[in-house]
Amino acid sequence: MKKIFFFLFLFSSVQLAFSKPVNIAIPTITNGPHDTVPYVIDEDEMSDFNDSLISFPASDLYCDFDTVNTHYPKFDISILKNTSRNILLCDESSCGYVHPFQGKITSTFGPRKRRFHYGVDIDLETGDCVAAAFDGRVRIAKKSKSYGNVVVIRHANGLETYYAHLSKLNVEIGQQVYAGEVIGLGGNTGHSHGSHLHFEVRYMGQPVNPAELISFEEHKLKSDTLTLSSKTFDYVAEAKKAAVRTSAKGKGSKGAKGTAVAKATKGVHVVKQGDTLSSIAHKYGTTTKALCAKNGIKPTSTLHLGQKLKV
Ligand SMILES: [Zn+2]
Repeated sequence: MKKIFFFLFLFSSVQLAFSKPVNIAIPTITNGPHDTVPYVIDEDEMSDFNDSLISFPASDLYCDFDTVNTHYPKFDISILKNTSRNILLCDESSCGYVHPFQGKITSTFGPRKRRFHYGVDIDLETGDCVAAAFDGRVRIAKKSKSYGNVVVIRHANGLETYYAHLSKLNVEIGQQVYAGEVIGLGGNTGHSHGSHLHFEVRYMGQPVNPAELISFEEHKLKSDTLTLSSKTFDYVAEAKKAAVRTSAKGKGSKGAKGTAVAKATKGVHVVKQGDTLSSIAHKYGTTTKALCAKNGIKPTSTLHLGQKLKV
């Protein structure tokens, strides 16, 4: 039985409310990344993985560490109206960024033909080493139809970085990686025409233009802080138009995915078969903790079919 070694992290809590600008620092790791307690999960426990009490990077922002679905549901960007979030990219002692691969940019973030391109393409040769941009934990390491061999790393500040079309995966789910560590080899897998690295940055499921934080000419960070505001996500309207064009054109094609954060019908969710607090929280872009608080229930409470939850 395959074992996955997992390490408990204790992070300082970060304010979730968006009522005012919030500085989201890379959380303090109480015991240091090299001084943590190993925890072993076998396959039988994987189903309980998401709802477990195990901490993971940015666990104060994300309600789980989904190791199956490549994308986390996109958060509702309207909550950034009239406010902003500062994401610290460097910790106090060092700026732990390493450029994933120093190659020529062949495609930037933005509209591309009928679809929106949510990443930056970097030219490389199959077999070239691709490095983790920041320290983090591998959430996804799998073969996907569109991304090919893809690695998704979640970072302590809430960002996730994606490395797609790899020819080889060098890491496993749950693995702690450090900036500069080779996580795979460049390739041409998935929906790809020619060897390249498709590199994405996302924050709570929403793609962020990597050029907002990285200088692809100088292969370094533009600043030690990334400020997320509604302006950061101005592209979303454009992406939606591209999605509409694609779905109108593609017979049977679902087109680009629109916002995945569900809109609550009159603020109420009716519990259906298979629902969990975690999945409901996911669906509405909130957290299990917030959901529980809103409904006066505990994370361990049993849900009943037809039960109405305020969301
Ligand atoms: Zn791409």
